[in-house]
Amino acid sequence: MSQQLTKISNKAGSDNLPTLPRLVTIEASRSCQLKCPACIVPTLKSRSHFTEKLLEHLLTSISWPIDAINFGWSGEPLLNKDLPRLVSRARLTGAKTNINTNGMLLSKVARELVGSGVDFIQVAVDGINQETLTKYRVGGSYERIIRGVEDLVRMREDSKSSTPEVSMQMVVTKHNEKQKDEFVRLARFLGADRVYFKAFSIDIGQHKSSAERDRIAADFLPETGEHRYSESDIGTSGCLEPQDVLTVRANGDVVLCCNDISGVSVLGNIHEDSVADIWRGARARKARRDVRNETQQLCKGCSYPIAKHLNETIVL
Ligand code: SF4
Repeated sequence: MSQQLTKISNKAGSDNLPTLPRLVTIEASRSCQLKCPACIVPTLKSRSHFTEKLLEHLLTSISWPIDAINFGWSGEPLLNKDLPRLVSRARLTGAKTNINTNGMLLSKVARELVGSGVDFIQVAVDGINQETLTKYRVGGSYERIIRGVEDLVRMREDSKSSTPEVSMQMVVTKHNEKQKDEFVRLARFLGADRVYFKAFSIDIGQHKSSAERDRIAADFLPETGEHRYSESDIGTSGCLEPQDVLTVRANGDVVLCCNDISGVSVLGNIHEDSVADIWRGARARKARRDVRNETQQLCKGCSYPIAKHLNETIVL
């Protein structure tokens, strides 16, 4: 989840007339070339991408102002070859556009991305060398990702553009928690604009057994420091994600939140109903009520509410 998307929050409370969402998250791709151990995406059978036609349909169904559109949920967005055109279309709404990427294809599309006008790109680097990167980003290439950041910064300079803002993200684990200072120096050296230290999520997509969760927690949660929490700290109360963010899958399903990659809590489909009707409909209101009452099945074991308070941004 992008930290930019968590800046604006509606007030929690009654679901009588839910405020229409000003933040939109789109499943640009349902596919990924990496195999991060806590993530459900590598196990998915469906590998579709969000199409230009679907985006057009979505945006024409939204008649109120949107603050930000995020293209970084579920799979790797740069695998969608239409991404630069999707971003350009999204910018016509006046909303800020964000991409979260694993960086593996960044060099290849850096020029097009700068040309799309995208406002913000966050690249998951997760280490200061190949060894620490691939402890979690299984299948990743440190050299390729770093070259991607360099190319992106250079293309932005060549085109004399002020965008995109470039952020380097480190998911903090026990393997890299002592490398934070060096990571900041690396980001500064590469010309990035900010560093984002993200607390580790034990189970992205709610697909792990409790034994697997215990193993992942033991393998990756930091041992000390400001980004550490334990499994017993995890709870659902106070999560505003379902009230703040419209989350749309590549098949047009609107789901409760960005933890619902496999569609456990589908609120409706934009092919069948308008976004406003889905957002204010009975299914959505019940699903949000279940979150508030801590009876929402999807929330069991979700580390998002605790982890987001442990994230840290450093502006360089
Ligand atoms: S699963 Fe529940 S706690 Fe987790 S992000 Fe979604 S609504 Fe919030």
